[in-house]
Amino acid sequence: MTIGIVGAGQLGRMLALAGYPLGLDFLFLDRSADVPAARLAPLLVGEFTDLALLRRLAKRSEVLSFDWENVSVAALRAATRGLRTRVSPPLRALATGQDRLAEKRLFERLKIPTTRHAPVSTRAGLERACARVGLPGILKTRRLGYDGKGQAVIRSRAGIAAAWNALGGAPLLYEELVDFELEVSALGVRARDGREALYPLTRNWHADGILRLSVAPWEAPALERQARAHLRAALRDFNYVGTLAIEFFVRDGRLIANELAPRVHNSGHWTIEGAVTSQFENHLRAIAGLPLGSAAARGHAAMVNLIGRMPPAGVVLAQQGVHLHDYGKSPRPGRKLGHCTLLAPTAAQRDRGTRHLLRRLALSLDGAP
Ligand code: AMP
Repeated sequence: MTIGIVGAGQLGRMLALAGYPLGLDFLFLDRSADVPAARLAPLLVGEFTDLALLRRLAKRSEVLSFDWENVSVAALRAATRGLRTRVSPPLRALATGQDRLAEKRLFERLKIPTTRHAPVSTRAGLERACARVGLPGILKTRRLGYDGKGQAVIRSRAGIAAAWNALGGAPLLYEELVDFELEVSALGVRARDGREALYPLTRNWHADGILRLSVAPWEAPALERQARAHLRAALRDFNYVGTLAIEFFVRDGRLIANELAPRVHNSGHWTIEGAVTSQFENHLRAIAGLPLGSAAARGHAAMVNLIGRMPPAGVVLAQQGVHLHDYGKSPRPGRKLGHCTLLAPTAAQRDRGTRHLLRRLALSLDGAP
């Protein structure tokens, strides 16, 4: 069976790495030939909106998926029209994940607590949104924002002009700045027959809007129960097939949904070594119509993103229990080039190992274990 994947970044690469043992074949589409999945599988090179190319990809694939959520929904729909090719996850989930306002509306409809927010399209509208939602707040582009890009914090009325000058013009969303205690994510997979596999709760640390560290299982039973209920509600509402992630802030012991990702997610990379079945394998099992594997943890994991420049492999691997993933990308400030995952038998050993690993990598993170 051939899985066609739109986008051939590190997520696509890790999907292929998980799929070959299952006997799956892959075909990717991306804008450049110099992409992480290109060393593993054949690649069509062209624009994500190139209908002829998308159609070629769809014709040669039994299932079409994506490793990037900003693929044009209209182009995917047109490319698969009249073909037997399935698209998984569903396009409605993709469309929701592309628009921060659509995400907020979904959360509200499913009674998943989220941030106070208001859509903004004009300068006067931003003034009104700041008055209604309150200050401080954060102005975000509704589309194409990731890793903290397309965001501006507004601390007081004096900051409104600068935020508007930076982002005005595109459709925007203004939301309260949450003074959170911590950030967590819920990850789960739903199969074609409706069966689900939900991973243990993951705690995340971000810096400058980019994920730096994830730790799982994050043992907080009450939060995990809430997070699972919210994730299940979204999986069922979409009649979802594949892996879905929802990121939450935690304030006063309660979850506040930030955003969702209709795909495998960076905060689930620990599942490669740390879970019985990884998020990548389970995504493929789901979209290929195979039974899901257990999402239970195999120990206590910590995942550190390698950003901007890769450390020498020997420095990472000299620490026992640490696994390295190098995506083969050229270095650039702020770019995710790889990650490493530490697996330990107990939470205390994991936390000690994480401190050691962060020191080896010369990284410091506020509040990290
Ligand atoms: P996002 O692109 O929305 O996932 O934002 C990336 C990161 O920026 C989040 O994980 C938070 O660390 C921070 N952030 C985003 N929105 C807010 C908010 N409303 N309040 C506080 N921090 C935020």
